[in-house]
Parts: sequence; C-alpha cells; structure tokens
Amino acid sequence: MAEAKRRHEVDLLIVGLGPGGGSAAARAAAAGLSVIGVDRKRQLGNPVQCAEFIPNPMAGYARADGVLVQRINGMQTELPSHARVATAFPGLMIDRARFDQTIAARARQAGADLWSGACLVKLDPERSQAQVRCQNGALVGIGYRLLIAADGPGSAVAVKLGLTPLETVNTRQYTVPLRLPYGETDIFLSDDYPGGYGWLFPKGEVANLGLGADRHYDRDLKAPLDRLHASMVERGIVGRRILGRTGGLIPVGGLRSRLHWGAVVFVGDAAGLTHPITGAGIHAAVVSGEAAGEAARAWFDGDRAALDDYEEDMRDQFQVALDRAVARRRELATVWRTPTAGFDAAMRRGWIAFDEYFA
Ligand SMILES: Cc1cc2nc3c(=O)[nH]c(=O)nc-3n(C[C@H](O)[C@H](O)[C@H](O)COP(=O)(O)OP(=O)(O)OC[C@H]3O[C@@H](n4cnc5c(N)ncnc54)[C@H](O)[C@@H]3O)c2cc1C
Repeated sequence: MAEAKRRHEVDLLIVGLGPGGGSAAARAAAAGLSVIGVDRKRQLGNPVQCAEFIPNPMAGYARADGVLVQRINGMQTELPSHARVATAFPGLMIDRARFDQTIAARARQAGADLWSGACLVKLDPERSQAQVRCQNGALVGIGYRLLIAADGPGSAVAVKLGLTPLETVNTRQYTVPLRLPYGETDIFLSDDYPGGYGWLFPKGEVANLGLGADRHYDRDLKAPLDRLHASMVERGIVGRRILGRTGGLIPVGGLRSRLHWGAVVFVGDAAGLTHPITGAGIHAAVVSGEAAGEAARAWFDGDRAALDDYEEDMRDQFQVALDRAVARRRELATVWRTPTAGFDAAMRRGWIAFDEYFA
C-alpha cells in the first residue's frame, strides 16, 4: 500500500456514517474507545436516499429538533385489482438528513472523531491499515485494531475483502407537492414494479413517491415512476412539479454468510440487514450499529467471543424475518411478467400486510 502523508492510530475505525455507523460510533465512543468515523459524503446525511419512514418503536430517535415531520396512522395497500386494504402500521415520517446528523452529533459529543468528505480508498486487513482520501485531496493512513463496515449496500470494505457482493434492487424516487393532508403510507403492488413495489409516503406538504424494481426485469425505472406520478396527479393527490429526485440500491438477499471477518464487523445495509420485501433498513442499521459498538467495547475489554456474540444476536433478532422475506421474493420471482402477477392473491402472498405472507 503506497504511504500516506499523515497517519493516525485508533482503536476503532468506522467506515460509513449513516444510521448504522453513526450509532456504532456513539456507543463505542461513550464506552471510552478511541473512534474515527469516515464518510465520503461532504455533509453527513446528504444527499438523502430514502423514503424517510420509521416505525413507531423508533420514535425515541426522532425527538431532536427538525427530525420528526409528521405521524403516520397506517398503511394502505393497493392491489392489482385496485382494491385498497388498510393495515395498522403506525410510524413517523422524518427528515432523514437531520436524523443521520443527530446520531452523528451524539457520537461527536461522546468523543468520536468523525470526518466527512473522507472516502476509504485502500484497505490492508492483514496489517489493519486503511487509507482515506480527504476533501482536500490528501491521502491519510489510519491504523485500527477493529473496523466496523457501515458503508451501505455496495460496501467498499466488502469489495476490498473480496466478499461476494450483496444482491440488490434499484429504486427511483421523486419528491412532489402533496395536495391534501395525508396520514397513511400508500403501497402499490403491481407487475409494473417487478421485484419491488411503488410507494407514496406523505411528509408534511410534500410526499416521497417512488418505486423499486429488479433490474433483471426492468432497467428503466423512470417510465414506470412517471406513470405512477401521472396517476397520482390525475387522482388529485399530488402536484405535477418534481421538487427532488433520488434513488439508490437496496439489499434484498438477506444477511451475509458471516457478519465478521477477522477484525472487521458488518452492520446495517453492508451486513444485508435490510428487509428484502419492504426495503426498510433504518431500524436494523441503528440496532446493529449500537450492538456492534457494544461488541467493540467488550472485545477491547478482552472478551474474544464478543464478535461471535454480536453475530448471534443479530441472527436471533433478524434471521427469521429476513429468511421469510427472501423466500417470498423467490416465489414472486416465478410470477413477475406472467398473467399470475395480475391476481391479487399472488401479491398478497408477497406483502407483509397480509396473513398469507406469514402463513
Ligand atoms: C430510495 C430508498 C428509500 C428507502 N426508504 C426507506 C424507508 O422509508 N425506511 C427505512 O427504514 N429504510 C429505507 N431505505 C433503506 C435505508 O435507507 C437503509 O437501510 C439505511 O440507510 C441503512 O443505513 P446504513 O447506515 O447501514 O447505510 P447507509 O445509510 O447507506 O450509510 C452508508 C454510508 O457509507 C458511506 N460510504 C459508502 N462508501 C464509502 C467509502 N468508500 N468511504 C467512506 N464512506 C462510504 C455513504 O456515503 C453512506 O453515508 C430506503 C432506501 C432507498 C434507496
């Protein structure tokens, strides 16, 4: 590895400062570890790549100023027949940038040294050395004893370790003006979104309108999103103007075969913890980040089983739900682009609002 001009030594290096990495940094720094966290984003939390819904049990994380935007009472699922089914699924719409920034602020307060605009470019896991390219172009070397990979679905750490890439679906989202007060999240299940679904999540005076679809079936997400947008305009729910555009990858293959390799621990999307059917991953990122921060403390206290315990804990909490979701995706994969996908029954089996999903 070419020599970096400046060098740092640290107990714990965290790559990625989304909810997973930020939570890990907050816990580990509060426990007294020396922590450096790096994120390639110039401003933490921005740009947002999220529909910004969190379930009610996460309300405690939305108390800081500017995080909570509106409450959600339930979910309306629209089936191929256009039948709409209401489910109690309360939660909160958040300002995701503020959410991530609040977690990062807590980590900084606890003593973590967080660098924005700092991209991991090289990793030598044998020697526990990383190189980071900083905003000013400088290459900085960081020697670590433990590394937490919280760098999202395309994890650069996983690539540098030579691990198998996670299976992902692609998404595209517009932020549009909302023309009426809206208290539910809307879900659209249709063969128009094979391997995914469409969503309208209200956020105060605007809404996040988006969709995910498997690239195997549909590479062009713009055309179906434009059609969904046009139909929402026609129904008088949203305005024509597009105020913002985003998108990104969502892991849909379930957990990695292992969650730690040597002194590297995976959390959040990088670990494959995101729900393969709903695409929700903020909760799992925070839970796994906090648990990994705790595991790091135990590991430095001499508990050599701490990383295995972390993995066992994550599997206990998430494996059953993730395995079921992966199985439903496989079933759905046999019906997309066939006449069966036009039947409500096929979609009910593949969506969490219905008993058939859990049967
Ligand atoms: C369009 C869309 C809508 C979504 N909607 C929801 C939703 O409503 N609710 C929900 O719960 N989940 C949603 N998700 C999923 C959710 O956003 C993720 O599960 C969550 O962000 C995972 O957090 P994380 O900390 O693991 O990873 P991330 O939030 O992805 O953070 C990873 C960080 O790593 C950084 N990084 C990457 N590579 C490097 C590198 N080489 N060097 C330094 N830093 C690096 C990135 O800049 C990023 O900040 C959505 C995802 C998408 C794409």
